[in-house]
Amino acid sequence: MQMTTTYFSTRGGETGLSFTDVLLGGLARDGGLYLPESWPQFSAGELKALSGASYSDIAYHVMKPFIGDDIPDEALKKIIADVYGQNFSHAAVAPLVQIGPSGWIMELFHGPTIAFKDYALQMLGRLFDYVLEQKGQRVTIVGATSGDTGSAAIEACKSCKNIDIFILHPHGRTSDVQRRQMTSVIAPNVHNIALEGTFDDCQDHVKAMFGDEAFRTDMNLSAVNSINWARIMAQIVYYVSAALSLGTPDRPVSFAVPTGNFGNVFAAYAAKQMGLPIDKLIIGSNRNDILTRFFDSGEMKKTGVEPSLSPSMDIQISSNFERYLCDLMGRDAKALTKTMTAFKDTGHFELGDNLMKQARSDFAAYACDDETTLAMMRECYEATGYLLDPHTAVGLYAGWKARENGDISDLSVPLIALACAHPAKFPDAVEKAVGGRPPLPAHLADLFEREEKYDVLANDLESVKTYVKTNTNAA
Ligand SMILES: *Cc1c(COP(=O)(O)O)cnc(C)c1O
Repeated sequence: MQMTTTYFSTRGGETGLSFTDVLLGGLARDGGLYLPESWPQFSAGELKALSGASYSDIAYHVMKPFIGDDIPDEALKKIIADVYGQNFSHAAVAPLVQIGPSGWIMELFHGPTIAFKDYALQMLGRLFDYVLEQKGQRVTIVGATSGDTGSAAIEACKSCKNIDIFILHPHGRTSDVQRRQMTSVIAPNVHNIALEGTFDDCQDHVKAMFGDEAFRTDMNLSAVNSINWARIMAQIVYYVSAALSLGTPDRPVSFAVPTGNFGNVFAAYAAKQMGLPIDKLIIGSNRNDILTRFFDSGEMKKTGVEPSLSPSMDIQISSNFERYLCDLMGRDAKALTKTMTAFKDTGHFELGDNLMKQARSDFAAYACDDETTLAMMRECYEATGYLLDPHTAVGLYAGWKARENGDISDLSVPLIALACAHPAKFPDAVEKAVGGRPPLPAHLADLFEREEKYDVLANDLESVKTYVKTNTNAA
């Protein structure tokens, strides 16, 4: 395996970047996303040698070629051991549960905020902190949340010495569990802002702060959003881990992934490019089905967002799709830039038959409305006793559909559906589906007794900026 990967921007404006550059950079300056210039390769022999290895060992072998010498081995191994050895509540980190003939659930909710974003964000926080320490720098992270990502980001940064994190949430508009998961983290570098406005207002203020060049520089603003390459990198690990558990490289596997921004399923695609024998990647969408429509029609067409029972997938566009499109178009930056610009200007683009043929051989996609989501949760619970969260149900539905329609070869190919959140995170949907509210796992059991700390701010950009300026240690 080659030891150093360099990175380029999908729009062609930047090449030859190191891991540290793309980690701290997030979004490329030309508006593109970062990708490795080549995919590190695992031979069948190398995969075999990893079977039976711990999650941390697999994580090291998967991430090392992407990081290269930017972080010395010893430091990288310590970060991985701290994150996956201590911050996850299951010894297997991402355990598999069998729910039917050749049907498996991969549980990705054993992190601090009981959703899969912990698997990457816990790592990202530590990587940021290490690199900043080396450079003698501090950053101010600002972000907006409608509930979920905010808590995962706060948990990721709360112990970081070189990061101040400010998360804006709409005051009174998140669930109690979601708010408390953020506001009960009491740390000098964690700043929760309850904005007297909507989620869109929160997002507008964050965008405006990044758009103000002077403020951005003065505060050393940074983001940990879903387009950061390091998040994708860390997510590749659990695909490799699950496949190894079920007999890879001697037998291929398929994954069913509930998809919003296309980050999680892109990590699966990356694992496949690295040599993991993946038969089919199955995308599940809720009623916001832009991706499913794309795979049906060959046209990516933006529409409005509608609320669903799986809110973490209520998106208008899938920002990480650009990474896949870049590969699909043979890494032709000009053609990709043209397509993405057209999409921005007109809200749609179309791909020809050749590209769609390839896309449909990589992925199958199915949409699942709220009613079907509830039915799926109920059926699975009645048949197996296993309780799904609504996002997981959307993915599993797509997986069953794919098997029914012959997208997956046969029962010799295990179907692994990703459980992206613990059902207790979405108690209202669970109650609608099966009639009871699931208890929170042990480490969150006292969530409603914990002290909360947050400040309510007026829906006004200047108040938010002043608050950040006064409270950050990074300026
Ligand atoms: C973020 C999230 C998703 C969507 O993942 P993407 O990487 O954006 O496709 C699905 N389910 C849950 C529970 C999430 O938090």
